[in-house]
Amino acid sequence: MARLLVTGGAGYIGSHTAVALLEAGHEVVSLDNYSNSSPRALERVSRIAGRPLTAVEGDVRDAALLKRLFAQQPFDGVIHFAALKAVGESVSKPLAYYDNNVAGTLALLQAMQSAAVTCFVFSSSATVYGAPDELPITEQAPIRSTNPYGATKVMVEQMLRDLAAADAAWSVVSLRYFNPIGAHPSGEIGEDPNDIPNNLFPFICQVAAGRRERLAVFGNDWPTADGTGVRDYLHVADLAAGHLRAFDFARRRRGFTPVNLGTGRGVSVLQLVHAFEAATGRSIPFSIVERRPGDIAACWADPSAAARLLGWRAERSIEQACADGWRWQSRNPDGYRGEAAT
Ligand code: NAD
Ligand code: UDP
Repeated sequence: MARLLVTGGAGYIGSHTAVALLEAGHEVVSLDNYSNSSPRALERVSRIAGRPLTAVEGDVRDAALLKRLFAQQPFDGVIHFAALKAVGESVSKPLAYYDNNVAGTLALLQAMQSAAVTCFVFSSSATVYGAPDELPITEQAPIRSTNPYGATKVMVEQMLRDLAAADAAWSVVSLRYFNPIGAHPSGEIGEDPNDIPNNLFPFICQVAAGRRERLAVFGNDWPTADGTGVRDYLHVADLAAGHLRAFDFARRRRGFTPVNLGTGRGVSVLQLVHAFEAATGRSIPFSIVERRPGDIAACWADPSAAARLLGWRAERSIEQACADGWRWQSRNPDGYRGEAAT
């Protein structure tokens, strides 16, 4: 059993990972400024897992707070989710992204170093591969950025690689997520976008719920089987389980290890729409519109390193992810905002 600091623990992926950590018997301290989440998510995490966690409200850029936190309790490791993540917003507000994502991670690593906590799992992204030269994408593919959000992930990975090279005490796993979708099967926690969703899956859920009239499919002239964009969608509960495995790996090994978390299977926009309709019985009206600037045709993972190094494989189907995501959406049409404060 271990005690973990989880930054961004109230967010979409952080909350699902917190459930998995608590269920595995670990102690969890969440540090979140709730800039894109609600503390209610953490109440529900505890309820699902049947165990308490500690929720600290604060910012990863707050060095004094981090110092206090690390002084108060010994941590065995840190899982770092806290970041801003909207690609479009990162183009219009680059400094906010470099500040939260890069300066935030730097402050956290400095606090860890001072406290001699050297086990770190980082939320990276398949966006670091940009437009891939080859599919499936392995961890050896070149990394590059195509927008400020992606640049923050590339920069943090560089910082982590340099840190692990300079000091053999560090063990760092950088998890390059492909496209997480779905929700916990209880329907209690899920993705809760503040605004109009940028991503495909939450948009589909809101169309199904009647909050949006129709889905705009960004192009059907891509060089893919049905002409729509192809991605590697994985169930968020599988992704959460991957963090548990990554933390176990980081406790045993040293150095910097980037690992893809994906299914290894490409699914088109229309295939995802049809899977959602089949799994939920809802119909998803859509129109084909222009391509979205900056999009790529296709992207899917070679997940063999995750299997070899972490003993992890995605187990849940797209249909399960659709059914679970819809359960969350239909039970919580206004996300966590719909629940009266307790
Ligand atoms: P999210 O916005 O739901 O969660 C991020 C959490 O971090 C939120 O609870 C937010 O309030 C908190 N936060 C943000 N800045 C903070 C700060 N400065 N201090 C303290 N807390 C802060 O996002 P998510 O989808 O759960 O993503 C988690 C991580 O995974 C992010 O690093 C993101 O870049 C990465 N990622 C996400 C996806 C995806 O599709 N969701 C894909 C690849 C990578
Ligand atoms: N997409 C779409 N309509 C939307 C949102 C996304 O057609 O409203 C497409 C997008 O062009 C891409 C796929 O769905 O081919 C996944 O997009 P998302 O933004 O979810 O993930 P990313 O492109 O960041 O991998």
